[in-house]
Amino acid sequence: MSNDVAIWLERLASLHKSQMRKAASAAGLQLVHLEILHYLSVCNRLSNTAQALSDYLGQTKGSISQSLKLVEKAGHIERKPCKDDGRVTRLYLTSEGKTCLKRISKDILPELPRDDLIIETLKSLLYHWQTNSHLKGFGQCKSCRHNQAFDNGAFHCGLLDEPLSKTDTQKICQEHEFEEA
Ligand code: SF4
Repeated sequence: MSNDVAIWLERLASLHKSQMRKAASAAGLQLVHLEILHYLSVCNRLSNTAQALSDYLGQTKGSISQSLKLVEKAGHIERKPCKDDGRVTRLYLTSEGKTCLKRISKDILPELPRDDLIIETLKSLLYHWQTNSHLKGFGQCKSCRHNQAFDNGAFHCGLLDEPLSKTDTQKICQEHEFEEA
């Protein structure tokens, strides 16, 4: 028997999935194509690879690779070699991809009120779920234990020893780690 938290969580997850599926279908896309576009719009510059996508969506690399080919052929994404490591290929939304996603996104989620209590509750749920399942990653950068915030408004990633912009801290990262509770 599910407890109340699980019931509300499952309802939210299924509502989000069905709205995504409906919006993708109305735009002539498959659900996974929309999920790829959405992921690339919210992930940080370290997490825009096929491997990260496959981990985030829980799909095999082969299946993601097929989907990426179709999304690329449609002109929604492009691949570029990583500036720091030529063996890594990074994925980027094209301007067509951004426009397409913007048009579709308004049909997925309504305007939601920004409520710190709700945000903390959702973060706590993710923390407990991931901890209990021995999973990690894909949290919002500003909540990562490696994120150092300075009085002058600057941010720094202690794991990668790289400066972060305020926009970087809003994104999700495959290396994200929560503070120990
Ligand atoms: S602070 Fe954490 S979430 Fe942010 S870039 Fe570094 S590892 Fe990723």
